[in-house]
Amino acid sequence: MKFILPDYHIHTRRCGHAAGTPEAYVTAARAAGLSEIGFADHIPMYWLPKAERDPGLAMQEEELAEYVAEVVRLREENPDLIIRLGIEADFIPGRTEELAAALLSAPFDYVIGSVHYIDGWAFDHPAHLTGYAQRDIRTIYAGYFRLLQEAARSGLFDILAHPDLVKKFGYRPEDDLRPWYAETAAVFAACGVCVEVNTAGLRAPAGEIYPALDFLKVCREYGVPVTAGSDAHAPGQVGYAWEQALEWLRAAGYREVAVFEKRRRRAVPLE
Ligand code: ZN
Ligand code: FE
Ligand code: FE
Ligand code: ZN
Repeated sequence: MKFILPDYHIHTRRCGHAAGTPEAYVTAARAAGLSEIGFADHIPMYWLPKAERDPGLAMQEEELAEYVAEVVRLREENPDLIIRLGIEADFIPGRTEELAAALLSAPFDYVIGSVHYIDGWAFDHPAHLTGYAQRDIRTIYAGYFRLLQEAARSGLFDILAHPDLVKKFGYRPEDDLRPWYAETAAVFAACGVCVEVNTAGLRAPAGEIYPALDFLKVCREYGVPVTAGSDAHAPGQVGYAWEQALEWLRAAGYREVAVFEKRRRRAVPLE
């Protein structure tokens, strides 16, 4: 049977800014011809006091157990598909103990680490775009890549999400970014984390898959394993631009992808 790239980055309406029940995403995955998917909804905002947690950004703490139960139930109800239980967890420097505790609370198949904040600034949120005018673009990129490396070194994550998310709104420095790519790929390799090919970049002003092909190529050269995700926030986005994702992987030289079960990684040939 032909191997189809698993989609390991799927949200649900529980996060407050995505549409559709988990069932709807499973139905969409089947319709898209996928055989393996993983939910990776946003972890509760563990680094903030409960009163300050925006219900439009992540599930509430009391919803985490429901999320887990729902994915486990869907797995039982849909034996024709492989359904993984993942989570997308923000990396916040200095708050790794709280995150480590939260990650122990459920039998996750994998944990996707994300950098969505630079010094508390939500640089990927359309409501905070003025931040790009208030800061030097080179400083923004340097801050982003340093945090991404720190996230890898934390040892908390199996996969680093959308690894050049900082390009989302199309703000790019004129510098050659390849030194950042090489340094970051070396850290990923040393820490044993996967890089994620994420097609949401195609739906953003950046108009390009995360990460840039030069970044993915250097990850391949360093032997960094890879996963793929659509970052679906609506059922119709499951397996979004999957042909392009496959082309991106092949163009970077990848011949296999990583799959996870109970946080153990295995490589599967791409064809
Ligand atoms: Zn989201
Ligand atoms: Fe994210
Ligand atoms: Fe996401
Ligand atoms: Zn994401």
